[in-house]
Amino acid sequence: MKYGRTYNFSAGPAMMPEEVLEEIAAEMMNYQGSGMCVMEMSHRSSVFQKIRDEAEADLRKLMNIPENYKVLFVQGGGTLEFAMVPMNLMKNGVACYVETGSWSKKAISEAKKFGEVKVVASSADENFTYIPDCSALEIPENADYLYICENETINGTTFHALPACGNTVLVSDQSSMFLSRPCDVSKYGLIWAGVQKNVGPAGMAVVILREDLLREDLTVPTYLNYKTHADSDSLYNTPNCWAIYCCGKVFKYLLAKGGLEAQAKRNEEKAAILYDFLDSSTFFTASVRKEDRSVMNVPFRTPSKEEDAAFVAAAKAAGFDNLKGHKSVGGLRASIYNAMPREGVEALVNFLKKYEKENG
Ligand SMILES: *Cc1c(COP(=O)(O)O)cnc(C)c1O
Repeated sequence: MKYGRTYNFSAGPAMMPEEVLEEIAAEMMNYQGSGMCVMEMSHRSSVFQKIRDEAEADLRKLMNIPENYKVLFVQGGGTLEFAMVPMNLMKNGVACYVETGSWSKKAISEAKKFGEVKVVASSADENFTYIPDCSALEIPENADYLYICENETINGTTFHALPACGNTVLVSDQSSMFLSRPCDVSKYGLIWAGVQKNVGPAGMAVVILREDLLREDLTVPTYLNYKTHADSDSLYNTPNCWAIYCCGKVFKYLLAKGGLEAQAKRNEEKAAILYDFLDSSTFFTASVRKEDRSVMNVPFRTPSKEEDAAFVAAAKAAGFDNLKGHKSVGGLRASIYNAMPREGVEALVNFLKKYEKENG
């Protein structure tokens, strides 16, 4: 890798495309003749307004976002959305959640502060290693929405098909799969994503929501009301200008690389290289049921905890960083987001093979 960079398998913040980092570096001292860095720029300036508007327009193009949906850039990262969703969408005070792992559990416990939460499906019985059947969920008439975490970053599962939820508003946390494959936005009421997994610097979330879900509610703090952001082009206060700029660069980069269909193909190929090896190995084991496996986060393990730790140390020394599994589940995990090059996955598999031969 150029610049002495490492293949970084972190679950987030994660790798950015090298070309994007190079462009940002080239514009660091003087953004396109403005005489300043984007960090130093007024959020009310016409130069920044253009950066913001292009970021939204490019995202709309990438995801083919229908006109009756708003695109918001909100601070507070992923975690604040756990609260903003119920604060804004609970009108009847009842919401349904599918429990598939660490991040949906966090969303559930936060939502309980605002109303009644019904867990309508769960994979807790098998340690969240699969996606529960969501073809016939019992959703009460008065439920304000059905919430899913579409890709569980820590557990490594993905919804390969959306739950059947009839007319209920579907809300999805797409943080760790955002822009990794085509998405039919019209199937959702609200999609949100913390951007540090697949698009940019931590601390911001992109929210895509259907206009009719916006509401005037004076009990919701101003900044936490989606309407505040929708009515002001996400410029109510000083936004995270730097993150918007970096995300905008990634949107343009993805468009230039053929859009989400092309990206999905690259991602599937990368994931297949790793899963095929894990399935053929007698030393390493993939943790998740085959049909529910994430294309972005790949949890796996050796035969023992001790060997997991020895492997992480050896991998780091060989230039493969952040392969330790999340502390809540243990084992190992390789996050292979959009920006992880195919060569990185191939190099990792070669290393795994060699390691198995010498230690297996
Ligand atoms: C990382 C992550 C979050 C939390 O994001 P923060 O920006 O750290 O608050 C929420 N949901 C999922 C699926 C994530 O991967």
